[in-house]
Amino acid sequence: MAAQKEPGFRESVNLMFNRAVALMDLSPGLEEKIRVCNATYTVRFGVRLRGKLHTFTGYRSVHSEHMEPVKGGIRYAPTVNQDEVEALAALMTFKCALVETPFGGSKGGLCIDPREYDEYELEQITRRFAYELIKRDLINPAQNVPAPDMGTGEREMAWIADQYARMHTTDINARACVTGKPLDSGGIHGRVEATGRGVQYALQEFFRHEDDKKEAGLSGDLEGKRIIVQGLGNVGYHAAKFLSEEDGAKIVGVIERDGGILDPEGVDIEKIHAWMQKHGTIRGYADTHFREDGASLLEEECDILIPAALEGVINLSNAKRIKAPLIIEAANGPITAGADEILRHKGTVIIPDLYANAGGVTVSYFEWVKNLSHIRFGRLQRRQEEARHRLLINELERLDRYLGDAWSMTPDFKEKYLRGADELELVRSGLDDTMREAYQAIREVWHGREDVHDLRMAAYIVSIDRVARSYRSKGL
Ligand code: GLU
Repeated sequence: MAAQKEPGFRESVNLMFNRAVALMDLSPGLEEKIRVCNATYTVRFGVRLRGKLHTFTGYRSVHSEHMEPVKGGIRYAPTVNQDEVEALAALMTFKCALVETPFGGSKGGLCIDPREYDEYELEQITRRFAYELIKRDLINPAQNVPAPDMGTGEREMAWIADQYARMHTTDINARACVTGKPLDSGGIHGRVEATGRGVQYALQEFFRHEDDKKEAGLSGDLEGKRIIVQGLGNVGYHAAKFLSEEDGAKIVGVIERDGGILDPEGVDIEKIHAWMQKHGTIRGYADTHFREDGASLLEEECDILIPAALEGVINLSNAKRIKAPLIIEAANGPITAGADEILRHKGTVIIPDLYANAGGVTVSYFEWVKNLSHIRFGRLQRRQEEARHRLLINELERLDRYLGDAWSMTPDFKEKYLRGADELELVRSGLDDTMREAYQAIREVWHGREDVHDLRMAAYIVSIDRVARSYRSKGL
């Protein structure tokens, strides 16, 4: 039994915020203005399903409107509550500031287990929830723009976008009322993979810095690094897939809600994912490596631990036993404030959620811009870029002929160089740049200030400072 009391999620975020502002020079009034959640709207609505009226409870919380629209996902889970939605909305404020997306922070949630309803029922529920939020401008391209989160995805976003369009038939920017939509409803290439891709780019950037690796007692690059990932949902799956397939990392453990698999030789993420898609569980996939108590795998030996599921999974009860020297928070709030303290004292390096999982909102920003500009990225310049590259290739070919056997172009250079960037490449490039820039801003504070000892504090300081500047420039 832990002697210390575990704070709730909202309190945990507040404690982290307080630790950061103690190192800053903000006026107490401004500090309080940034800390508090501006508003939380609670709605209870009824939907007739299976011949009976069901009442659902949903929330949309707006943490900070220093920039508008405010941004943040909508979560479907039976555990959703006001405390959680407000904590997540606060994290969105800091996340958006950190990766320089021009948004305030918001979050929504619906208390529902989506697995208990069929597609038609979920559509009725989603449209009704969206209707309640839209009529109060809590979904609006200029004011509040939701996105997917746990339990929701492209399908729900398409329903929300359509519901908004039906209620605003003459709004030419209607599609920008929500992001994470499917491509044929105004979505953008690369949004589904974005959060996992961002986790990969964050780790790649971390591994570019010798000093930072040394803090975690690691060296070299991602090749061969042993990774345990918790949660094979959209974020965990994409992160594990890219890190293993493209960077040569070894996924040695996968943790799911109903068990885990640990194999020091490395697991095949695609196979496990396919199994889970088919059977809805990780059980039965590989009996020899299966563990009933999945969460105990968080404490196994590895180089990098990626919690990509729920908040609070690393807490006072298990923090002491976590062996990973590097943890990257792909989920929001997976480490409680108490656990964070224990891990910091142990010397564990933590790449914090507000940075690590910001890939989702970054690509949401690109989608929102695409919707407002009504043109896909790359459409104007792609062929012109190819034509200019063709000029260079023609010259190189002339040189190739002239030099004979002495020199020739690398085999696939011509093909690669000639191809102008499509939307997916541009999105990935924008995301990579965003993750690098944000990390560099954080590490500058981490290494530049004597009183800052961890990446989380550095990240909070960078983002709170940006939010404060924005409030100050409004005269507050
Ligand atoms: N729900 C995601 C998050 O927690 C994405 C938010 C967004 O794209 O607006 O960051």
